[in-house]
Amino acid sequence: GASLSGLVFDNVWSRFPADFFTRVAPTPRRGTRLLDVSPLAARRLGLDAETLDAKTLTGVMSGERLLPGMDPLAQKYTGHQFGTYNPALGDGRGLLLGEAVTPQGPVDLHLKGAGQTPYSRFGDGQAVLRSSLREYLAGEAMAGLRIPTTLALAVAVNDERVMRERVEPGATLLRLAESHVRFGHFEWLYQQQRVEDLERLMHHVIDRHRPDLAQTEAPLEALYQDVVTRTAELIARWQAYGFVHAVMNTDNMSILGLTLDYGPYAFMDRFDSRLTPNHTDTTGRYAFDQQPGVALWNLTVLGQSLTPLIGVERLREILDTYEPTLQAAYAILMRARLGLESEQEDDGELIDDWLTLMERASADFHRSFRALSETDIQGGLSLEAEIPDAALGDWLARYRERLSRESRGEAERLAAMRRVNPVYVLRTHLAQQVIEAAEDGDAGPLRTFRELLSSPFERRDGMDAWAEAPAASAPPVCLSC
Ligand code: AMP
Ligand code: MG
Ligand code: MG
Repeated sequence: GASLSGLVFDNVWSRFPADFFTRVAPTPRRGTRLLDVSPLAARRLGLDAETLDAKTLTGVMSGERLLPGMDPLAQKYTGHQFGTYNPALGDGRGLLLGEAVTPQGPVDLHLKGAGQTPYSRFGDGQAVLRSSLREYLAGEAMAGLRIPTTLALAVAVNDERVMRERVEPGATLLRLAESHVRFGHFEWLYQQQRVEDLERLMHHVIDRHRPDLAQTEAPLEALYQDVVTRTAELIARWQAYGFVHAVMNTDNMSILGLTLDYGPYAFMDRFDSRLTPNHTDTTGRYAFDQQPGVALWNLTVLGQSLTPLIGVERLREILDTYEPTLQAAYAILMRARLGLESEQEDDGELIDDWLTLMERASADFHRSFRALSETDIQGGLSLEAEIPDAALGDWLARYRERLSRESRGEAERLAAMRRVNPVYVLRTHLAQQVIEAAEDGDAGPLRTFRELLSSPFERRDGMDAWAEAPAASAPPVCLSC
């Protein structure tokens, strides 16, 4: 079969103008040890995690080994952080090692935690184990939920001691993405009025990642439309699955509509539409219920950056498709989660009232949906236990009436619901348990949780602890970047 050292690497980015990047060799990380390899990510490279050459992979992740064709570089970009333009951004602690050319298309390999670059500003270029594990698991969880995302091939710990709020073990993460191009790449070129380079970058994205668009009448407009549509669909998925990204700066927005740059993100526990897990976000700019509006704002910034190439009227028309696209995608997802196969006028209200009910009762978001799907199972979750609220009865009566207007049989409906309502969710307190075990040298919980998250819909025997909500007395989620 294929092997890691047999992959063909290139680095197309290195052929852009010189200021698009800076070549930097990874900083060697002593004592690098693999903690886990993702079967899902391995498959994306045409490899098998079971037989993958661990020595080669460890070498790459320690920064000591490059595979033929790799040409490590830090990408330059800028972006709006919390609404303010920052011209000084770029890869500050990660390097694009190269692109693997696979039968399914190009895949970037990006080594996070690879050391300082000219864009590190005040940062140390390090990644800590805690955040590397959180990013690793996030890729698996999002992929498991069919939400577009970057993935990580592997996570490794090393002997660095990294100063954060406490001294933490260092780590590296080998991230995969079809592309690491961000909205911020276009903002950087726009701010300098480099129209030819802007156009060149757009054609790069089209040619490598969206070749169908090259056949359309106006490929640049088609690309912007593609970004708007995919971003709307991405946000619909985040909202439908209770995910808060928490740092929706334009430099963290993918031109391909992937979830990118996992930091202080969180999946909901009890439903709280204002959830803001990032403790530095004191105004709730990136709260759960702000995400649809923030993505629109970010798409507007991207559109502004494209004004040298696309007429403002046309950009506005395209931007106007965002809201209806998001609403339609969200409605499809939520109807599926409630088991509604047909589309009926009062569905929106039923969905909104379900969320209001959960929020009022401080009910657990994921267990509530799952409980709706397990009413036929012996020992299944109980809706009454999940939503101890007097208003549950009224809502359930309306729900049952609505279900009576469905033609699909009950068993079939419940089975379909269990394929979209996960049992296992990347909850913050569970990630924390995995992190603590890994810091103590035990990667077992990491592997178990990774496996559950990558196929989260099927309940497994003996794994109920991985489906628990945090204790009611637990403090609210609060994370640092
Ligand atoms: P983020 O919003 O976390 O994706 O990071 C914003 C910017 O800060 C990016 O340009 C990162 O590369 C950079 N950055 C974050 N943490 C570090 C670090 N520890 N060392 C160097 N640069 C960093
Ligand atoms: Mg280049
Ligand atoms: Mg970032």
